[in-house]
Amino acid sequence: MSRIVIIGGGIVGLATAKALSETLPDVPLTVLEAEDRVGVHQSGHNSNVIHSGLYYPPGSLKARLARQGGELMIRYCEEHGLPVDRRGKLVVATATSQLVPMAELARRGRANGVTLREIGEEEVRELEPDVAGIAALDIADTAITDFAAVTRSYAAELAARGVDLRLGARVAAVDRPGARDGGPVVVRTERGEELEATVLVNCAGLFSDRVARMCGVDPGVRVQPFRGEYSALAQRAGTTVHRPVYPVPDPELPFLGVHLTPGVDGTVHVGPNAVPAFSRTGYRWRDLDASTISAWWRDPGMRRLARSYWRDGAREVVRSLSKPMLVADVRRLLPQVRSHDLRRAGAGVRAQAVDDAGRLVDDFVVRATPGAVHVLNAPSPAATSSLLIGRYVAGLAREAYDGTPAPDVAAVVSG
Ligand SMILES: Cc1cc2nc3c(=O)[nH]c(=O)nc-3n(C[C@H](O)[C@H](O)[C@H](O)COP(=O)(O)OP(=O)(O)OC[C@H]3O[C@@H](n4cnc5c(N)ncnc54)[C@H](O)[C@@H]3O)c2cc1C
Repeated sequence: MSRIVIIGGGIVGLATAKALSETLPDVPLTVLEAEDRVGVHQSGHNSNVIHSGLYYPPGSLKARLARQGGELMIRYCEEHGLPVDRRGKLVVATATSQLVPMAELARRGRANGVTLREIGEEEVRELEPDVAGIAALDIADTAITDFAAVTRSYAAELAARGVDLRLGARVAAVDRPGARDGGPVVVRTERGEELEATVLVNCAGLFSDRVARMCGVDPGVRVQPFRGEYSALAQRAGTTVHRPVYPVPDPELPFLGVHLTPGVDGTVHVGPNAVPAFSRTGYRWRDLDASTISAWWRDPGMRRLARSYWRDGAREVVRSLSKPMLVADVRRLLPQVRSHDLRRAGAGVRAQAVDDAGRLVDDFVVRATPGAVHVLNAPSPAATSSLLIGRYVAGLAREAYDGTPAPDVAAVVSG
C-alpha cells in the first residue's frame, strides 16, 4: 500500500504524524529522523514558553494558530501528565520611549484575542518585586512547559499507534524529484534504506530548504541559523522572577532583547540572544560549516540581510562575548543582578527563513507541491502551535494523498 513519509522528528513533524495517524489510520506512515532521539534540535533547545499570540500581525498564520494552539498545548500537557504552569507573563517598559510601542502591542494582542491588562509601576512591583519597570502588559494566557517532554510524548503516542518512527535515519536523497505526474518518489537514507512515498512531508527544520531542493523544489527562501544563548540566573533576594518577563520588543526584530524565563524545573534563564550561527547545528562559536559561512557572501539575500541589520547583529555578538555588557542589559530589567549571578546555560539554534530580498520571513511558511508538503519556516511559536500546525500540514498532505480538500486555517483552528 502506498505510504506517507515525514522527514523530521521534531515537534512539528511528530505533530503532523499524530494528526495524519488520526485522520488516515489505515495509511502506512513513516517518520525519518536523522538523530538518535526525537526533538534533538529546536524542539529540545528552546525557552519552553507556551506563547499567548501577543506579537503577531493579526490575520497572519502565526496569529491564527498561536492563541488557540497555546490553549490546546496547555490541555495536552494536563491530559498527558506533562509539566505545565499557566504563570502569565509581563512585557515590561523600562523607559517612556517604550510606552507607545507597548500600547500598540496591547492593541495587537487584543486583536489576536489575548487576555491582557495594562498596568503601572506599582503593580509591576507587586507582581515582580525585583523587576524595574515603569509600566507593563500583564498577559494571563502565557504558560511554561517542557517541549522536549511534549515531543517525546507525541513520539510515544505514535509508537502506540504503530507508526514507523525511524531514528538515525538521515535522508540523503529523494529520487524522481518533483514527481509532477503524481507518482511516488523514492526516499534514500544515509544508511541505505529506500522507501517509496506517495506523499512526502518535509519537516526538517534547520535543513528544510535543503530537503526541498533534494525534492527538486525551489524553496524560495534560505534557512539561516541564528543561535540563542542562555544563562542561568541565581535566585536570591533581589533577583527572583516568578513569571516570564520580556522587554517591549522591536517589531522588526521581536526576538531581540534580554528575556527572563522561569522553567518548570525552577531554573530561571536569561536569554536567548540571537547571534549568527556558522553551522546549522552551531550550538557554540567554534561550530563551523563551510557552506553556511560561504552563504553569507555568496547569497545576495544574506548579504542584504547583513547590510540591513549589522548594527543589531554586532550588538548581539558583543553581548554574547562580553559578560559585563550582558549584565548591564539584564540590569535594565533586574537592577540588582551581579555578574556572578549569571552562568552560561546552553543554547538553541533557530531556523529562520530569509527571502531573496534579505528579509527575515516572519510568518510560518508551508508550501504544497505535487506529492509533497514543505514546512519552510516554523520559528517560534511553532512549538506552542504544534498541534494546530500538525493538523494544518496533515490536511495538505491528505489532499496530496487522496484528493480530500484540505481544511482552511479557520477550520483547523475551530477543530
Ligand atoms: C532558542 C530558541 C527559543 C525558542 N523558544 C520558543 C518558545 O519559548 N516557545 C515556542 O513556541 N517556540 C520556541 N522556539 C521555536 C521552536 O522551538 C521551534 O519553532 C520548533 O521546535 C520547530 O520544530 P521543528 O520540528 O520544525 O524543528 P526541529 O525541532 O529542529 O526538528 C527538525 C528535525 O528534522 C530533523 N532532520 C533535519 N534534516 C533531516 C534529514 N535530512 N533527514 C531526517 N531528519 C532530518 C532534525 O534532526 C530535527 O530533529 C524557540 C526556538 C529556539 C531555537
